[in-house]
Order: sequence, then structure tokens, then C-alpha cells
Amino acid sequence: MPSVVRSLLLLALAALSASASPHDLHDHDHAAPRALPGRWYHHEDHPAYALFRRGDTDGATYPAVGSPEWSAGYPDTDVTKGTPQAWIDALNAAVKAGKVPNIPVATSTGGNPTYPQGFDPNGPEVCSATYKCRNKEDLWDAPDGVFGSSFDDGPLPTSMPLYEFLKQNNVITTHFMIGSNILWNADAFTYAFETLESDIAVHTWTHPYMTTLSNEQVIGELGWTMELIHNSTGGRLPKYWRPPYGDSDERVRAIAKEVFGLTTVIWNQDTEDWSIGESTGTTRPKVDASLKEWITGPKSPGLIILEHELTNNTVGAFMQAFPLIAQNGWKFESVARLDGGSVYQNSDDDTDDVTPQAVGVFAAASPSPPASDASSTASSSSNSKPTGTGTVTSGSSSPVSTGSTANPSATGAAQDHKNGAMSRFGSPMSWHSAALATSLSVLAAAFALS
Ligand SMILES: [Zn+2]
Repeated sequence: MPSVVRSLLLLALAALSASASPHDLHDHDHAAPRALPGRWYHHEDHPAYALFRRGDTDGATYPAVGSPEWSAGYPDTDVTKGTPQAWIDALNAAVKAGKVPNIPVATSTGGNPTYPQGFDPNGPEVCSATYKCRNKEDLWDAPDGVFGSSFDDGPLPTSMPLYEFLKQNNVITTHFMIGSNILWNADAFTYAFETLESDIAVHTWTHPYMTTLSNEQVIGELGWTMELIHNSTGGRLPKYWRPPYGDSDERVRAIAKEVFGLTTVIWNQDTEDWSIGESTGTTRPKVDASLKEWITGPKSPGLIILEHELTNNTVGAFMQAFPLIAQNGWKFESVARLDGGSVYQNSDDDTDDVTPQAVGVFAAASPSPPASDASSTASSSSNSKPTGTGTVTSGSSSPVSTGSTANPSATGAAQDHKNGAMSRFGSPMSWHSAALATSLSVLAAAFALS
């Protein structure tokens, strides 16, 4: 129930109880009763409501989720097509203000994206999350004793058993959703948002290695996913995003923050659950063992385990381990709620009031962005390290050589699924190729129809 309505009902009940006060039992005739009249507020169809109505949407009218009108107008795989000028303007303003580091676009080489000679992925200028360089404003750890829960790559048909399990257990989690998957699984999306009241966050439009994209492509990947979520949730703007493969750097991170107001979320443990069933992937028993080890292990820092709503095995491993979380004294918490603040940029959660706000105007609306309140470890002043005024990078090809590459395996125990996807299987798409390929082919068919 919207909080406004709830408040009004409470007030109405108070008024009713006041009018039924012991005064009615007296027969003396001093002052007139001071109880409020029975109905002192306007009905909800009164014009006054139109002036102030926010409730659980921003008051705008959006096409029904799943309708042709709702799914029209989004890109297929070329996310730079039809980019709204406002996003480009916001990007240019951020670049001009020196808030987007002018570092090279990384190159895909069949392994981890690489940077030209002279650009250290673990140095402060680049600080690539792929190489486990931690920007203090990013979210890597949960607070001590907290199990920070999230699932990537949904919504998919395989999401539904997970959603029903979450519902049965009455817990809320964060879903880092792929924009194109939302288009093709509208029912699952609606279930997650409306029935579960789970927290919706951004996992890009086509699941690329973000550091290998131009500034405009980064804008499209984030912007279109933001736009679809915004238009499917009564106007809510996600506050968190997780880069696919955990691949982000200072440039990508800055664009996400300065243009879209997004805080980057990574993880501190990874079962590689996505690779169960792949020829050289992990196995379900190994995933189960890892989950058990971490959940029965130390509580500092708290856990943020990379998990996927991708297959019956990834979902099943979580469901099997779920009872252990409470049994071992963890507090289960949705990742988007770890900082105790709002889940969305313009709304507390899935049911609270929404302040109208468009996608991609963060830079213009907030010349001095508020300090990130997302990270439990956040303390530094700025996440961007201007290295020059720079210009907007054009196109997808940036002539960078395959230069220095640090070995990420030497810097962190947790393996992220990019390592497997790229180096073990040779194809960056193999991690969830079936799911995404299905989504994209259906997407392409629909665009041909519309
Ligand atoms: Zn993913």
C-alpha cells in the first residue's frame, strides 16, 4: 500500500476513534465535540490528487509491461542507434568537466582486456576491476556478518523457480538484469518487481566487456537498460549496476556515475556457477562445496557472492545453500540495501513514492554529485581522476595495442567468470550463449516485425 494512502487510513481511523470518545456517554452540554469530521480529506478522484500524486509511480503513464508499445524503440545489439541527445549532452558535459578519465579503450585479446604499454591496469589511472583493482567507491564487500545477495543475467525462464523460492522464503534480493532479457521475459520481470518487490539493478543491454567499448557504447549499454527499467517500474531509476565479467575501469566507472548516477558493484567470492555443464567448467558439487565453505567461514568481510539466475544448477546451488545462511548466523540482505539507503535513485524501494526523474540527466542535474553512499568501505573523495579534457571517443575501434597485462590471478583468489569465458573457452559469448542468443534472436525477430 502506498505510504500516503496508509497514512490517510491511519488518520481516518484516528478520527473515527476520536468521534467515538467517552464524550458521547456524557449528557452534559458544555463545549461542542471537537472530534474531526468523519471525512476531512478528498476522495482519490478529486482533482487535487493530480497535483500531488506520486504514490508508487512518478505519475507518468507508461505502456503496460510486455505490450508492443512497451517494447518498441529499443536497440537490438547496436546500442548507439538512436541514443537520446540528452545522454550525449550529459556525457560531453562530464568529459568537458574532466570527470571522465581520458584513458585508452581496452582491447579484447582472447583473455582479459588489455591496455597499451604505459597503462597499468592495477594503477590508479586505470584501476581495472577485472584485475582486482578496487576503487573505494565501488562495492566489493558486504558489512561484517552480512550475506549480500544478488543474482545476475535475468530475467530468464530459469528465473522463475528462483523467484518462487524467494517468495516462499520471504526474502528480497537484487537482480542485476540484462536489458534485452527484460524485453523477452516481461512476465518474469513483472514477477520480480511487483510480486517479489525485489530490487532491480543494471547489468547492461548486451553483456559486453565494458572497458573495450567506446564512451558512446558505454552510454548505450547503460542508458537503454536504465530506460527500460525506468519505464517498467513506474519511473524508478536504478542506483546500482554490475559490469559483466566484473569488467570496469576508471573511465567506465566514471561514465556510469557521472551520466547515470550509478554505483558500481563487484563481488568478493565467485563459484563460477555459470560454467556448470561447460566442457571445462566447474561442477555442481564444487559450487556447493564453495558456498558451504564461505557460509560456514569467517564473517569479516561480509559476503558478496557472484550468483546467476541462469540455469537450474546455478539457481539450485543457491536454494540448497540458503538454509545454511541463517543457520550460520548471517544476516541476509539484498545488495542494493547494504548501505541502508534507498534502492533507487529516486525512490526508497519498489512500493514507495517516486520523484520524477529522467534517465541520463545526472550530470546536468547534479554538477557536484553527492558522495557515494553505496559502499560500506567508501571514503575517498572522488572516483574520477581527470587526466585531461579529452573528447568523446567515436566509434568502437580505438587503435590500442596489446601491451602490458598484469596477471589477475596473482591479485585475487576469487575468479570472475570472464576468465573462464575468454581464456578457457575461447569465446566471450560461451558463458550464457544459449540464453542470450535466444533472447537476441527473438529480439531481432520482433524488431523485424515492429
Ligand atoms: Zn553477467
